[in-house]
Amino acid sequence: MSTPIVVAIDGPAGSGKSSVSKAAARKLDFAYLDTGAAYRAVAWHVLNTGTNPEDEQAVIDSLEEFGYDIGTDPDNYYVKVNEIDITEAIREVRITDVVSKVAKIPVVRQYLGDLFRHIMASTTKPGIIAEGRDITTVVAPDAPARILLTASEEARMARRSAELPQQSQDQTASALRARDAADSRVSDFMTAADGVVTVDSTDFSYEQTIDAVVEVIRSRTS
Ligand code: C5P
Repeated sequence: MSTPIVVAIDGPAGSGKSSVSKAAARKLDFAYLDTGAAYRAVAWHVLNTGTNPEDEQAVIDSLEEFGYDIGTDPDNYYVKVNEIDITEAIREVRITDVVSKVAKIPVVRQYLGDLFRHIMASTTKPGIIAEGRDITTVVAPDAPARILLTASEEARMARRSAELPQQSQDQTASALRARDAADSRVSDFMTAADGVVTVDSTDFSYEQTIDAVVEVIRSRTS
């Protein structure tokens, strides 16, 4: 079996990374890896086991019982911990509110980074698109195609508000700003590292963004 082509896509919350990466994977018949889902799954596991998310050692210890499974087929996406399907649960606001706390712990990042590299290497598809915050820089810095997907803060807030109609726009905007601020202390996903192509989706439709991303991947991997 030949080595799969790795495509790394980073960007801030609300940039459209997940849906665009999934759609691009479908077009290219690639696998898709949502790395944010793993950080969310750790946050879910921490809350589910009554672990204090502020207690770094307790969070690290909780990884011993963290049986993680994620679907990498864009048409069969699921997230499980210890056989429990948490695909929907990890999107809850209570998870989004604590995820940055567990994501800033270096041992957690090392553990998940190793897991991502293992998942990427074992895909049976010709390639895999992995999206997150530090994929272009830390997890897969040697990937042939690396993309930073950005959008103006206004566009990102508007997209996230449309996804969360139960929250007021102000609440959504301040939660998103707080999360980006916390996350950017850990990884720089607002500026493109050397060799990383920026796709700014502010004035693009969803379809145009997918096309732009697929075009970068094709030009870098053919
Ligand atoms: O992409 P998503 O919003 O689902 O990511 C959830 C959280 O996981 C982020 O806010 C960040 O704290 C963390 N994350 C990370 N590194 C990644 C992907 C996600 O720290 N590669």
